Amino acid sequence: MATIIDGKAISQKIRSEVKSATEKLIREKGVTPGLAVVLVGDNPASKVYVGSKEKACVEMGFYSEKHVLPVTASQDELLKLIDKLNKDKNIHGILVQLPLPKQINEDLVLEAISPEKDVDGFHPYNVGRLAVGKPLFQPCTPYGMMKMLEYSNISVEGKHAVIIGRSNIVGKPIALMLLHKSATVTICHSKTKDLKAEVKRADIVVAAIGKPEFVTGDMLKEGAVVLDVGINRLESGKLVGDVDFASAEKVASAITPVPGGVGPMTIAMLMYNTLESAKRV
Ligand code: NDP
Repeated sequence: MATIIDGKAISQKIRSEVKSATEKLIREKGVTPGLAVVLVGDNPASKVYVGSKEKACVEMGFYSEKHVLPVTASQDELLKLIDKLNKDKNIHGILVQLPLPKQINEDLVLEAISPEKDVDGFHPYNVGRLAVGKPLFQPCTPYGMMKMLEYSNISVEGKHAVIIGRSNIVGKPIALMLLHKSATVTICHSKTKDLKAEVKRADIVVAAIGKPEFVTGDMLKEGAVVLDVGINRLESGKLVGDVDFASAEKVASAITPVPGGVGPMTIAMLMYNTLESAKRV
């Protein structure tokens, strides 16, 4: 049976480290980390995410601002707000909650955020910094996964990591992070010819597909480490990952559950990145 990688416990550890470091920063330098979260429209899931981020800021002792624009907001309106936040000395991190309404060009918005305040790590400048191995901000979800491996004493060097999914927010950045830690990395996607064969060779599997219980135990190599990024709500209301936990835990050596795995790490790393940004002031 696999060891469960407890994202809730690890994220709590990171949050308490960030909280102590924040107290120290305020005490010694008089700098309070500040995060601005921008929400456009009233997507229910986005509202929940923004709420959790605000709550985490309060817990950390951060200064936080929430900016809510109507679903009809123009691109110009949003760009003006970002420009204001870029110049605001009390703000060290700016996060624009995605997805954005159709009239707004997401790429343009992400590129408008100052790279020095881009705590999500989505700006092309930060993507490039990560690619060359000199990151300024690393995207929160993959960074959280790297922390999970680190806190679980799972070494990456020389391991074969297979990533299923090539999104800009998860698949590609986790591939780079694992590569920088000297894993041999394979990235799979919907056009991959023989996914099962690829996954079978993996010492580390990252499932970032968005398909409920897609990766099953029979696809895994004995003793593989499985990181499940997926968050899928079944019709029954049950929350499941991209990995079929019941069959996978019988084959894997370590596995992240859903919920309580990668999910809680994302906000913890957002807090971590905001603190890092404030420390650079
Ligand atoms: P995307 O939809 O952007 O990417 C999904 C990827 O999976 C694509 O690269 C796609 O390939 C690939 N894929 C789809 N079907 C298959 C298939 N049959 N075989 C192989 N590859 C396939 O998703 P995200 O990366 O944004 O998110 C992935 C999951 O992680 C989602 O469930 C999301 O909810 C969750 N998530 C969780 C977070 C957290 O905090 N825990 C944060 C972000 C996401 P192709 O490129 O060819 O289309």
